[in-house]
Amino acid sequence: MFNAKFKKKLTKFFEPFMKIDANKRKMQELSNGFESEDDFQRNVPVDRMDKIIEVLKDTIEVKKGIEYKTIKEEEAIHTLEELKRFRTLPKELKSPQGYRIIPLLHLDIFKLGGWGICDACNKDQIVFMYIGVLNSAYCQACYEEWITIAKYYPQDIHVETRNIERTLKVITDENN
Ligand SMILES: [Zn+2]
Repeated sequence: MFNAKFKKKLTKFFEPFMKIDANKRKMQELSNGFESEDDFQRNVPVDRMDKIIEVLKDTIEVKKGIEYKTIKEEEAIHTLEELKRFRTLPKELKSPQGYRIIPLLHLDIFKLGGWGICDACNKDQIVFMYIGVLNSAYCQACYEEWITIAKYYPQDIHVETRNIERTLKVITDENN
């Protein structure tokens, strides 16, 4: 029915789409075994995140070849890189002034009734630095700016303690 040249042309035309489909299946396999998106984001092992990033990068290359948009893949890579960064952060830390800081995921911010945006710059974030004394969640950049100007007021510590305790209670409550 088709001559060889046309067949070859057709195969070449479909190749990127087949590759995109194959990558989609790979992604599904790699994200299998989790109850929910929440479960995935909190518990997926780092090496599995790396594999997913690899597949996403490959999809981006293929899509660029056919001039398709790659915003979704780029966003997914950003999310995974941020989730990886979150895993490297301690459960709690102290600012240079001595204020208590809790690194939180956007999932935790939703639990707290927030929108998942930085309280200082209003940009969407995956990882937040919760500043107890301000009862605010900042992105990394705004947090770093804040620590250069914040002053330590011992009289605010009872407010900090109250905020931190309430926040920890909400984010560790399984039923929330
Ligand atoms: Zn910010």
